[in-house]
Formats: sequence, structure tokens, C-alpha cells
Amino acid sequence: MDTRTPHPSLPAKPRAFGFFVDGAWVKTGGRDTLDRISPAHDIPVTTIALCTKADVDHAVKVAREAFEDRRWSGQAAADRAAVLLRAAQGIRARVDELALLETLETGKPISQSRGEVEGAAGIYEYAAGAARMLHGETFNNLGDKMLGLVTREPIGVVGLITPWNFPFFILAERVPFILAAGCTIVCKPSEFTSSTTLLMAEILAEAGLPAGVFNVVTGLGAEVGQAITEHPDIDMASFTGSTATGRRAVQASAGNFKKLGLELGGKNPQIVFADADLEDAADGVIFSMCFNAGQCCVGGSRLVVERSIAGTFEKLVTAKLAKVRVGDPLNPDTQVGAMVTPEHNAKVLGYIENGRKAGARLVAGGGKAGSPAGNFVQPTLFADVTTDMAIAREEIFGPVLGIIPFETEEEAIAIANNVDYGLAASIWTKNLDKAVNVMRRVRAGRTWINCTITGGPEMPIGGFKQSGWGRETGIYGVEEYTQIKSCHIELGQRAPWIS
Ligand code: NDP
Repeated sequence: MDTRTPHPSLPAKPRAFGFFVDGAWVKTGGRDTLDRISPAHDIPVTTIALCTKADVDHAVKVAREAFEDRRWSGQAAADRAAVLLRAAQGIRARVDELALLETLETGKPISQSRGEVEGAAGIYEYAAGAARMLHGETFNNLGDKMLGLVTREPIGVVGLITPWNFPFFILAERVPFILAAGCTIVCKPSEFTSSTTLLMAEILAEAGLPAGVFNVVTGLGAEVGQAITEHPDIDMASFTGSTATGRRAVQASAGNFKKLGLELGGKNPQIVFADADLEDAADGVIFSMCFNAGQCCVGGSRLVVERSIAGTFEKLVTAKLAKVRVGDPLNPDTQVGAMVTPEHNAKVLGYIENGRKAGARLVAGGGKAGSPAGNFVQPTLFADVTTDMAIAREEIFGPVLGIIPFETEEEAIAIANNVDYGLAASIWTKNLDKAVNVMRRVRAGRTWINCTITGGPEMPIGGFKQSGWGRETGIYGVEEYTQIKSCHIELGQRAPWIS
């Protein structure tokens, strides 16, 4: 018997959303609107309001008031944790609805969307515990007349700008941690994928989050996003997206020296040694390049492989790649769905053309995958890639992988580090000494040994070099959203300065 979830169907008309400020939905009113076209099906699926700078100003005012009157930060961590736990239940109660919207807006496979929504619920549960773990320090070593306290305080109002590749999951890697720290939030999701962030605001309100603590303004990055990064009354901005926009956020934030958290691009190596379990490594390498159609900041996009097995491994990867199921993301069997927009699809195809022209040898894929909407790219493998080629240096953000051979461990490390990015790296070998040495010397914030793109909210995520600043998730992810205050307490009589 087939027990899989039935194939969900396309909506008859787009679902219209207002936006969410001060604990309630705000109607679109006279604002312009934007239809989101499903990249896999070429029909409008959602409609959002194009908020203005004035809407951002209002949301920041609301979030500032909610922060200053301590309606959230003043609660015991146990009470804040209870809200986050109820939010996790609220997510679980709406998995089908959230997963379908996620797939319609992003083009990602429905089975993957369900996994991400369920995974997000687990992150809220983890963060509930983290809220209660947060603590400062005491210095009891300052002599009998002095006690030192170091306290952690919420940083304040956080502007949160999220991307389109994992709209609900990346939100879950930020929001409950920011809330665990006691901050209030003004969030702008990507214009392409706003609906599940808006529903999360409703879920949090129903879970008992006080009004004004989590506010969502939708619209365009150039207007709404820019207004957030520039805003003089926002204390910290957390941005996830391209390195180019991240650089703009750094400039914009200088106005009030707001703290910035940046999770930016990657050009992540999959380093495969001859002594690896090659079947397992090939499977992991393909998962890493194809997951989310390659639109994944930690996805593998450089296959750095020991020369003695390069030919064998190329054949193994090619054979397995042929079995990857690309197609309609509403089909529960699909593994690779659509690219997010026609423009992004064209950008990825442009990189494939660039690789061909630069002299790389096309081994598999290399073009559009058949579909009515046309926004699908075949998983593509290049061999004979050199480190100076654009396909070896720049973030393509598609299912495209280039093979770069190496002779020695030193050379593998040098190739891995020879890019501007430093987000993630995977190492495949059965030799533990070698694995740990390479892990230590690769300049990347997230590393995997004999696995890839896995892990839970306990572990931090973030980049070295131009992949960003700061860390998300884990207890580190809560601490990012706090300020440290020190306090000296004098005991007994203070020695007078004036005699
Ligand atoms: P962007 O960096 O432009 O988008 C990320 C977020 O930033 C979106 O919410 C976007 O809003 C917003 N934004 C856009 N302009 C501004 C601005 N001036 N100030 C503040 N926020 C802004 O990425 P793109 O969508 O253009 O994708 C381009 C490339 O970025 C991809 O090809 C990929 O290489 C990389 N990328 C990396 C991601 C990662 O996870 N590291 C995620 C997404 C993209 P809006 O959508 O409304 O424009």
C-alpha cells in the first residue's frame, strides 16, 4: 500500500497576505502588491504587500516600545521558553500548509519542505532550552572587598533580513535565538518567499508572544531591506544573503554603528582522499551539490579529489548523478526542484556556458532540464577545472560541481583555502589523523568529516573570510544577540580619594 502523503495540488488563485505588526495583521490597503509566481509551475501562488520606508519606521517604533517596556525581556526565561515551546507545537499543527507554501514559492521538493518545517519546530524547542541556559559570570577573585559580575543583556531591536533559499528554516535558525536572548524583531523576508515568515508571526502570536515583539514587513530589498540596515533605532541587523548585498549592509550600518551578523556566500570544497569510502563519498558529494538545487550556502561546489582516484571517482559520481530525480516539486519522489527565478536560472546556465568556454570538460548535465516553466537546471559536472576559472571561484548557487585534482594533503588544503569564501568544507577519508589535520587547517566555519550538510541546532553556523561575521544557532547563536555588561560591587567601606 502506498502510504505517502498525497500529491498536493496547485492553488486555484494566489493567496493574499497583509503584513504583521504589533501582534496583528495589517491590511495591504493602498500599497502596491507583488505576485509571487511559482518557479516550477509558472502561475501566481501568493500576493504580498510592498511595504514602504514609513512602514519600516512604524514597525521599528513598535519593536522599540516593546523592548523598552520589558514586556518580553523582563519575563523569566522559563516563561519565554514556554512561548517558544508552544510555537513549536503551532508549527507542527500547520506542517502541511507551511510546506506547501514553501514549495510553491521556492520550487523546492515538497518532501524537503516538510522536513525543513518539521526541523524548524525542533529548533524552536532547542532555543527554548537555550533561553534558560543563558547566563553571565562572576569574578570572585578580586579580593575580599570586591565582587565582579558580568551580565548578559538582550542587544535590543534586531532587524532580520532573510533570503529565499530556506525561508522557513533559516528563519528558525535566527528568530527563536533572538527571542531567547530577549530582543524584539523587525523582519523582512525575501520578496520571493514571504508567506511562511508571515505565518510564523501568527503562530508566535497564538503561542503567547507579546504584541510588538516579532514584526514582519514585506517588500523589496532595495527599499525595505535597505531601510532596516540604515535605521538609526535598530541595534543589530542580521543579514543572510549574497556577499554583494552584505557589503552594502556593512556600509549602511555605519550610520549608527549597529552590530551586524552576516551569513553570506560560500564556495565550499568537498575534499575526497583516495582512502575514502568512495561509494559513500560520491553519494554525499552529489547530495551536497544537488540539495535545494544547489541553492544552498553550505552546498559543495568544488570537488577537490586525490589525483590517483580522480578518474574512478568521476565515473562513480557520473553514474550516480544519472539517477537523481529532477522534476515537479509537488511530486513526493522529486529530489531536485526548480531554480528560484528565471533570472537566477539564466545566471546558473550562464556559469555553465562560462565553464565550457574556459576549457573545463563537461561530464554530465550542462543545460536546462525539461519542464513547462523552464526553470530547471540539470545537475552538471565539470572535470579538468583549474583554480583560476570563474566556476571554481564564484558562488554559482546552482547544481554545478567542478572537479579539481590534487597530489598531496598540503595541496588539498591550499586549494580548499584558495577562494575568498570560508563557509563550509567536507572531508572524506578513513584516516582520522589526516581528517583532523585538514579540518584544523581549512578556513571555514562549518566542517564535516565523512558526512555533509547535516547536524542540529546545537552546533554553530557561520563563515570565515568573506562568508560573514558572527555565528548563528547553538548557545553561540543566543549570545550573538546579547550585550555584555560588567559590574564591580564594593563591599564594606570604600577607601576615600580625598583625605
Ligand atoms: P540578496 O543578497 O539580494 O537577497 C537576500 C536578502 O537581502 C533578501 O531578503 C533581499 O530582499 C534582501 N536585500 C536585497 N537588497 C537589499 C539591500 N540593499 N539592503 C538590505 N537587504 C537587501 O540575494 P539575491 O536574492 O539577489 O541572490 C543573489 C545571490 O546571492 C545568489 O545567486 C547567491 O549566490 C547569493 N545568496 C546567498 C544566500 C545564502 O544563504 N548565503 C541566500 C540567497 C542568495 P529581496 O529578495 O526583496 O531583494
